[in-house]
Amino acid sequence: MSKILKQKERGSLIVISGPSGCGKGTIIKDFLSKHDNVWLSISCTSRDMRPGDIADETYFFISRGEFEEKIKNDEFLEYAVYNGNYYGTPKEHIEEKLTKGIDVILEIEVQGALKVKEIVPEAICIFIMPPSMKELRKRLVGRGTEDKEKVLNRFKTAYKEINEVTRYNYVVTNDSIEDASKKIAAIIMSEKCRVDRIEEVYLNNEEEEIHELLMDKDFVNEDIKI
Ligand code: 5GP
Repeated sequence: MSKILKQKERGSLIVISGPSGCGKGTIIKDFLSKHDNVWLSISCTSRDMRPGDIADETYFFISRGEFEEKIKNDEFLEYAVYNGNYYGTPKEHIEEKLTKGIDVILEIEVQGALKVKEIVPEAICIFIMPPSMKELRKRLVGRGTEDKEKVLNRFKTAYKEINEVTRYNYVVTNDSIEDASKKIAAIIMSEKCRVDRIEEVYLNNEEEEIHELLMDKDFVNEDIKI
């Protein structure tokens, strides 16, 4: 059957942010386990590894010097300093994946997300909101991987980040991982149905098509009088 529409097959660039401890990593993991054709970009960072981190999987852990060298060589789509450490999205692979029709997820903080939106206005920016500040505090303290000062800093940063939520396209509250992951899937699906992704509409001459239909000998609807 011939198609009526030609739509952009390019993958979507999806930016996901949210305060530390809001559960965005777990939501993304859940989403990735349920969807194909989507790739999570691995960032570079100069921060120290934490228990549970896996080198070249959680991040590419590099020194500040190496990071600065990469900045000089224009290797990042965006980068930011967050809690005193560098974090950056390597440009490599992103364009290639998008061209192949693969969706790319960037899990990055607010300053980086805003930079991406500037460079790629069609990027889909989603903010993950913790269910409450009390719950966020519980999660940050409960993580037990950092000292009091670092937890306090992350909590202060969370307040600032939440204040930027209106600069995003969508907000998803993490009441449950499964629901939040479903909402992300729904957002991505609706973005693919946007009319601005239409490249061409293949419609034949309307008069001719109607004439052909009326001349069709199998067309026996008696309600239609010529
Ligand atoms: P964490 O140290 O907890 O792994 O990450 C701290 C923050 O840095 C998180 O909000 C995370 O989303 C963000 N982040 C991770 N990778 C990047 C990146 O490549 N660029 C930017 N701007 N932020 C990042």
